[in-house]
Amino acid sequence: MTPSHSLLNSNMPSGSASLIWFRKGLRIHDNPALEYASRASAFVYPLFVIDPHYMEPDPKAFSPGSTRAGISRIRFLLESLADLDLSLKKLGSRLLVLKGEPSEVLIRCLKEWDVKKICFEYDTDPYYQALDNKIKNYASLAGIEVFSPVSHTLFNPADIIEKNGGRPPLSYQSFLKLAGEPSWASSPLLVELSSVPPVGDVASFEISQVPTLKELGYVQNDQQEELTPFRGGESEALRRLRESLSDKEWVANFEKPKGDPSAYIKPATTVLSPYLKFGCLSSRYFYQCLKDVYKNVKRHTSPPVSLVGQLLWREFFYTVAFGTPNFDKMNGNKICKQIPWNDDDELLAAWREARTGYPWIDAIMVQLREWGWMHHLARHCVACFLTRGDLFLHWEKGRDVFERLLIDSDWAINNGNWLWLSCSSFFYQYNRIYSPTSFGKKYDPHGDYIRHFLPILKDMPKEYIYEPWTAPLSVQNKAKCIIGRDYPKPVVSHDSASKECRRKMGEAYALNKKLNGVVSEDDVKSLRRRLDEDGGQEARGRRQRQKLIS
Ligand code: FAD
Repeated sequence: MTPSHSLLNSNMPSGSASLIWFRKGLRIHDNPALEYASRASAFVYPLFVIDPHYMEPDPKAFSPGSTRAGISRIRFLLESLADLDLSLKKLGSRLLVLKGEPSEVLIRCLKEWDVKKICFEYDTDPYYQALDNKIKNYASLAGIEVFSPVSHTLFNPADIIEKNGGRPPLSYQSFLKLAGEPSWASSPLLVELSSVPPVGDVASFEISQVPTLKELGYVQNDQQEELTPFRGGESEALRRLRESLSDKEWVANFEKPKGDPSAYIKPATTVLSPYLKFGCLSSRYFYQCLKDVYKNVKRHTSPPVSLVGQLLWREFFYTVAFGTPNFDKMNGNKICKQIPWNDDDELLAAWREARTGYPWIDAIMVQLREWGWMHHLARHCVACFLTRGDLFLHWEKGRDVFERLLIDSDWAINNGNWLWLSCSSFFYQYNRIYSPTSFGKKYDPHGDYIRHFLPILKDMPKEYIYEPWTAPLSVQNKAKCIIGRDYPKPVVSHDSASKECRRKMGEAYALNKKLNGVVSEDDVKSLRRRLDEDGGQEARGRRQRQKLIS
């Protein structure tokens, strides 16, 4: 489905009502759906639907939160809604919050409020594509105008795919060539709204305020882990943006992947991703602001490493994700190498729960669980460790953990980066593995990042902080941290595990090449069997692992 603006009812009477359905796009600035809803309408109903699928507490989940989202992201969303409500109130309106299955709630609202036009930001996520189709079908039968503009991304992924003959570009460079400058780039975006028409009669609906975590049924107690330090909402997004842009030299010289992944007091990147994820910040506005900075400096970096380049990585993944069936799976995904990943729940749990015994990896996983945000290179390290670097576990399992715990969790970007890091797609140099002991040390030789996120190791001397199992017992005693008791021994030996991973990746790549990419599930299974059978090395590795665990 392409974004739509179907003018089924263009002679709308001026006393009529419009509905703006907020999902992402939780902002006033550069919000074409809100702006259009406000135009020529006597009443505007700004609606957010609390979807139980996303928000209901799930006590069985592996971390506090709902089935799909960790509590930090839910809190971030509620803060963003409260901020939006406040901004709407300043414009003479307010946010209406209802609970239930979104398409059922929406259709009831459209009927009872006699809505003549419904406006919502176009969304490429499969969940919203399905939901939006239901709403569009209903609206079309009921003669309601639908306005669904592209404003979450800089480009419309469908346009890029069309320019490329119906297929998504599979490299960043080819994406750049096709995309060029966005059509709106040189015209000013609407960033201020002076008012929004009042909310009409809400009929029989019981409208609630933006709920608190407690009102949604989340129990918070004193023992609860640290929650993310990042506050949700458009106001905070714009404040953060201003702060980042105020240092023009920093913006002009921004170069990723340079930058310190262990910097946590002042992160090395903007931390605007959660705001872009929920649309508290418009990516188009961000892009225009960056271009303004570039105009006023002598020299600046360029894509792929510049800040504009980072926004274009986002666009790249959105485009490929939109044009690739089964993008979020290995099976049935044409751009994904078929690899016989191992299945090992114990190892997966050790990784997820920050118990791998590698402090650099575990500290990153604690930052993920508590903050819901880590630096890009930190994400690289733990994703590589889980998949092709050490544990040889399926990228989909790691993706699920990130999807739940990240506050910037984004369907297209998360899946795209997991495909990349596991060498399943886009990037194929599987011999290049991040060392879980020496990579972090380059940036943070004293191990301050580890000490902060793993306080059990706070007194470990810097000589041992990245490999505490090598510390003599007297040192461990003095540091009040006995390895194997207070902090785990490594779950694998990196040297042998990474060697084994390379061997398996080599075999899997050879199979994919031999079968020209058409690898069935049975082919993958028989390769796994063969690798297990003639895996003398692997058996030795496993024995070593047992030795380390016991
Ligand atoms: P900055 O460096 O300040 O960049 C500005 C913006 O550019 C970001 O906010 C983001 O929107 C975009 N961007 C930056 N890097 C990338 C990238 N590699 N791919 C796509 N867009 C990018 N990012 C998410 O937003 N959501 C995710 O779910 C997500 N999952 C990831 C999973 C893995 C395994 C890896 C390796 C990376 C993932 N990223 C994800 C990409 C990246 O790590 C984050 O976007 C970035 O660290 C966010 O921090 P920032 O806002 O300070 O980025």
